[in-house]
Amino acid sequence: MTSAPVSDLANLPPAPDVFQMEVGLLQNFCEILSCPETKQAAIVDPAWEVDRLLAESRRLGVTITKMLITHGHNDHVEGIPALVKATGAAVVVSAGELARVQDELAGVPATIELVSDGQDVAIGRRGVRALVTPGHTVAGTCFLGDGYLISGDVLFVGGCGRTDFPGGDTALMWHSLQRLAALPEETRVYPGHDYGSTPTSTIGRELLENPYLRCETLDAFRALRDRGRK
Ligand SMILES: [Zn+2]
Repeated sequence: MTSAPVSDLANLPPAPDVFQMEVGLLQNFCEILSCPETKQAAIVDPAWEVDRLLAESRRLGVTITKMLITHGHNDHVEGIPALVKATGAAVVVSAGELARVQDELAGVPATIELVSDGQDVAIGRRGVRALVTPGHTVAGTCFLGDGYLISGDVLFVGGCGRTDFPGGDTALMWHSLQRLAALPEETRVYPGHDYGSTPTSTIGRELLENPYLRCETLDAFRALRDRGRK
């Protein structure tokens, strides 16, 4: 797996607009990423309340053409079959998370677009870049827009994802967080759950306040991660 340097942001495509909404019983965040010119849009991690996601998309006047999957945990993917049936949108996922998506689809025919690290995903005339950031799961993926990061369950406001689920790996999580920490400080962070004091943050604020980003060594990170549970 190649790891494109995230500091090389000069050729990022123009970013889609972001609309964040909280769904379900586990404080999950979904985002609707949309191109203002073409009105094409992608939904990040469809789950829990597909009817609401569709209603908000209609209210925004956008057409869902893709769904971007940060990782295969149930609370992030269980809406995929319903959204495929409603929209025919393509499912954008990393190869390492595909098996869980196919389990969820359970034979529902769907267009799959595999993404690898550093690859751009077009949303109308806008786009985001996939950053494969393992650690919470085997090939969890963040999506970087010009100015913001969809961080899934890798980076939370004031926290980070657990590494003790199947496929989790504390050392890989550490390396993934180091990559995200190198993004420009003004990068706005849209996490996969509303676990923090605010719904979004910035890389700069997290560098100051997030104990998991303040760890200076993998050992310190491991000790802290093993103590925390959320
Ligand atoms: Zn998860």
